[in-house]
Order: sequence, then C-alpha cells, then structure tokens
Amino acid sequence: MADSPPVYPMPSTVYGPVPSWRFGNSLGVDLIVETSTCSFNCIYCQLGHIQRITAEQRLYVPTARILADLEKVDWSKVDVVTFSGSGEPTLATNIDEVIAVVKDSWRKPVMVLTNATLLHDAATRRRLWRADTVACKLDTPDEDIFQRYNRPAEGITLERVVEGIRALKADGFPGRLALQCMFMPINRDGAERLAELAASIGPDEIHLNTPRRPYPREWYRESRGNHTEAAPVQEVQLKVITLEEAREIEEIIKRANPDARVLSVYTEAPH
Ligand code: SF4
Repeated sequence: MADSPPVYPMPSTVYGPVPSWRFGNSLGVDLIVETSTCSFNCIYCQLGHIQRITAEQRLYVPTARILADLEKVDWSKVDVVTFSGSGEPTLATNIDEVIAVVKDSWRKPVMVLTNATLLHDAATRRRLWRADTVACKLDTPDEDIFQRYNRPAEGITLERVVEGIRALKADGFPGRLALQCMFMPINRDGAERLAELAASIGPDEIHLNTPRRPYPREWYRESRGNHTEAAPVQEVQLKVITLEEAREIEEIIKRANPDARVLSVYTEAPH
C-alpha cells in the first residue's frame, strides 16, 4: 500500500498578542501569510527583502480561514488588533470583512499599519472605514530618498502616497489618522521638512521609530511578530539614529504639529 502524503498544518493568520510600544498587547492579523508581499521593499523591513514586490490587490487568504484562527484567540489578553503581518494589509481585498468581524464579535480596537500606497483608490479607503486607527507610513519628504529608502513597486511615487493620505482625511475618515515615520541616518536630515509635510496633512498622531531589530537576510514567518528568540537566518545590523538625534527630531515634529499626539519609540520603549 502506498504511503499517504504528509499533512502539514497551515500557518496561523493571527499571531501574538505581543507587547506593542504604542498600544499595549497587540494581536497581529496577517492577511497574506504565505510569503512576504508588499508594494514597498523598505531597506529596514523586519521581514527582510520582500519576496513579492507588487501593488496588485486580491484575495490572499479566505476570510473563513482567518475567522477560524480568530476563534482560537484568548481575547482577555488582547488590547488592540493590528493588521500588519507578512506585508501590506491593504493589498488584501477582504480586509474590510475581517475588520468588521473583529469589531462586531470581539469589540476590540483595530489599528491598520499601511504604507498608504493604495489610499489614492477610493475603494481601498472605504475598506478601512471601520478601523479605529489607520497608521500611514511617511518616512521622508523627498522623492529621491523615498525611492531609495522605501523602494516601492514600479510607478509608485511619494506624491501619490501623500495624495492618498490626504484623501483619507478629506473623506472624513472617522477614526484616528496616524503617520508612522521610521528614522535612519539616510532620512534624518529631512526631519524639518517632514514635520511641515505632516502639518499640512494634519494627523491625529505621529509615531516616531527607528529600526530596533536587525535586517534578516531571508524571509521567515516569525519575523512578522516581535519574537524574542534568535532568528533562524543570518541578520544584518542596521544603522539607527542616536538618542540625541531622536530627541531633536521629536522636538521638531512636536513644534510643527502642536495638535498631534507624538509618540516616540525612544520615549515609550527606551530599551
Ligand atoms: S511597508 Fe512595511 S512590510 Fe512593506 S517593506 Fe516597508 S516595512 Fe516592510
């Protein structure tokens, strides 16, 4: 009799909860899972070099599979549900369905971490409507640095990203609009103009960050969470900004954006 083929368990579409420096215990939802997929390929990405660099939106994981994974969660330990995972969550066309279930069934706040490359599209913005916070990546005011730092899929420009964020605000998005800014030496000197760009958008929050983890040479699934075990692949140390530089940038951002809540990884999670 022939041996039956081995049956491998499907990886879960949820992970954590993991302590987040921004919002307590965060349960991660991964709408992509199978490999890293993003419309950016940031030089600091915790997933390593993105395997599928694309702006193509489609269904990656059936909603039913994600809901089955959510059913197994111990919700008493979850403060916030964060959509991030193995790439850009707005590439997944079922993000709205999953947000609706999290809100209706478990009544937890939802935060979407997005690179905002698809927010120029009205249908994508509508899918985020029920999120409590949409945190848009905005690292630089310079197109040239944007192309070298975020390394977007072909055709994506900084102007299009900023237009998309402005459109979400102009639509009257009812949740909180946050900007997430990752600083390394390459974009440090643009802080003043980034602060002005942010002020012209008018976010509710600005999150200042610097890469706290080395860059993995290869993708592995656990890199989507704040894992503490040693990585199973080689890693490269990244250049980060100093504490003094971080404080200076925080002051610059606060001065230009007095109405925004500014959170810095150096202040909230200094270690
Ligand atoms: S947008 Fe996020 S997931 Fe995509 S490459 Fe940049 S850091 Fe990685």
